[in-house]
Amino acid sequence: MSRGQDFARFNAGARAFLEPDIGPTENEDCGACDDPAVYRVPWPSVGDVAYCSYHLARYREQHPKLWNRLEEAVDDDLSALATQGNRFLSFDSVPETLFEDGFHAIALLADGRALYCEREPEETVTYRAVHPSLEVTAERDLDLEDEQAFLQWVEHEFGVHHWATGGGR
Ligand SMILES: [Zn+2]
Repeated sequence: MSRGQDFARFNAGARAFLEPDIGPTENEDCGACDDPAVYRVPWPSVGDVAYCSYHLARYREQHPKLWNRLEEAVDDDLSALATQGNRFLSFDSVPETLFEDGFHAIALLADGRALYCEREPEETVTYRAVHPSLEVTAERDLDLEDEQAFLQWVEHEFGVHHWATGGGR
């Protein structure tokens, strides 16, 4: 008869072990960028990931069902933590073209900026990184032949959440 109890205890223990360690974080970096993490959230197959306030907001945007379950499960005010700041949450929210249609969006960077490329380059091509406020925070002019290497550098240096797919969005 105590066997059933043991089994129940074992089960509860195993479940606790398997449950992700979610909750507020201290002295941890975000799993997606270099900002300080504010909260650790569950991921179905990965286990759990600590996110900064921006990436917490992105998690909410991309995984509404998980977010709702999480909100019900914890006492913390998650929405207060998930602040987007001056950053794009998803590539869908990035304007397709900017600067009098002279530039088109090609990527959402991991830091929440959008990367734009000159639409009709001649000898050189210009890239711009912008915030949702449309402030240009970085600009780079390069020879057309250096484009591929530049984009690889961007991916390595900043991380990319989403690349525009060829021939449109
Ligand atoms: Zn982050």
